[in-house]
Amino acid sequence: MYALGDCAEVAGHQLPYVMPIMQAARALAKTLAGTETAVQYPAMPVVVKTPACPTVVCPPPPGVDGGWEETITAEGVRALYRDTTGALRGYALVGAATTDKQALTKEIPPLLP
Ligand SMILES: Cc1cc2nc3c(=O)[nH]c(=O)nc-3n(C[C@H](O)[C@H](O)[C@H](O)COP(=O)(O)OP(=O)(O)OC[C@H]3O[C@@H](n4cnc5c(N)ncnc54)[C@H](O)[C@@H]3O)c2cc1C
Repeated sequence: MYALGDCAEVAGHQLPYVMPIMQAARALAKTLAGTETAVQYPAMPVVVKTPACPTVVCPPPPGVDGGWEETITAEGVRALYRDTTGALRGYALVGAATTDKQALTKEIPPLLP
């Protein structure tokens, strides 16, 4: 039996948004076509559809020790979560800072390699 979407827990992760479903669908399609393929999760930001206040969040995985660094300006908020080694593990961006989404996402290690 196979499942994907909001009802599915994959390797302990319950991620009820669209990007994880796309990753799972790719792996499931290959598996059903005969090539067994495990799901891989890169860092997956959630784009919150609030045009009046653009917001993107990429929460750090549960249990990662670290802290937030916040830069707040009139144009928006850039909050970065770094682990104890200084590596970027998550972020929250509001307003003009959302343009940093792609570059920051590339820096974050995959959730499920
Ligand atoms: C208000 C809201 C805003 C969201 N915004 C975002 C966003 O901006 N970005 C993002 O990435 N994600 C967003 N999400 C999450 C995203 O919508 C879900 O992760 C995604 O729709 C889950 O897809 P799914 O196919 O697993 O489940 P669903 O889309 O919930 O589909 C399940 C389907 O099963 C049907 N169903 C239920 N019970 C039965 C039954 N007994 N028999 C037959 N059919 C049944 C339901 O009617 C439904 O059509 C949002 C969710 C909500 C609620």
